[in-house]
Amino acid sequence: MSFISEKLQKIRESIPADVKLVAVSKMNPAESVIEAMKAGQRVFGENRIQEASIKFDAVRSGGFEPELHIIGFLQRNKVKEAVRIASMIQSVDRIELADEIEKQCAKLNKTIDVLFEIHTGEDSKSGFKDETELFSVLENCAAQKHPHIKPKGFMTVAPFSDDEKIVRAAFRKVRTLFEKASAEFPALCLTELSMGMSGDYKTAVEEGSTMIRIGTAIFGRRDYSK
Ligand SMILES: *Cc1c(COP(=O)(O)O)cnc(C)c1O
Repeated sequence: MSFISEKLQKIRESIPADVKLVAVSKMNPAESVIEAMKAGQRVFGENRIQEASIKFDAVRSGGFEPELHIIGFLQRNKVKEAVRIASMIQSVDRIELADEIEKQCAKLNKTIDVLFEIHTGEDSKSGFKDETELFSVLENCAAQKHPHIKPKGFMTVAPFSDDEKIVRAAFRKVRTLFEKASAEFPALCLTELSMGMSGDYKTAVEEGSTMIRIGTAIFGRRDYSK
């Protein structure tokens, strides 16, 4: 068995069957994506649009049909390309971005799934910090003002901390917000909580995560010197 398939199997065995696994392939080559697909993995996450386009066009031209989620900060001028290559954008963190995704999807006549990113970590700048702003986007979606956007739930990157209590509190905060939003906007049928990375996914699953985003624990350490 290959390194990647062994790692994938180990992670799948350590989470409940209904928790989705997004394999974060950033900084890893198309060959690694294909290797993971041969081991049964279908959903991948990338945070840079240009890198993702080149890589996933290559994978798809080989006859594979991966699903791609954008999980990193998304600039407005990259939205057009992002909605071409992805089936979900997990990092919607401001009203203007939702507006731009709607505009670009309307042109393509495509509906895209989105998660709203919630800010919980001091090290990360992205994510909604303001509940009022978040709820006004949700209200727009519930009022069908963004017909090409299908909100599915929330995403967060927890603070990088050795203190499990801090990490757990962050996940719990997002889950509480998710429950509040689900109660206020039942028509949106929010189902997904994307929480947990290589270092904290077990805590995230305990706190109600439905989708974990794992890079290092599948593909090994990323080489930032390249
Ligand atoms: C890189 C990244 C991940 C995966 O991180 P690992 O620690 O390698 O598992 C998950 N989510 C986001 C938003 C990322 O940028």
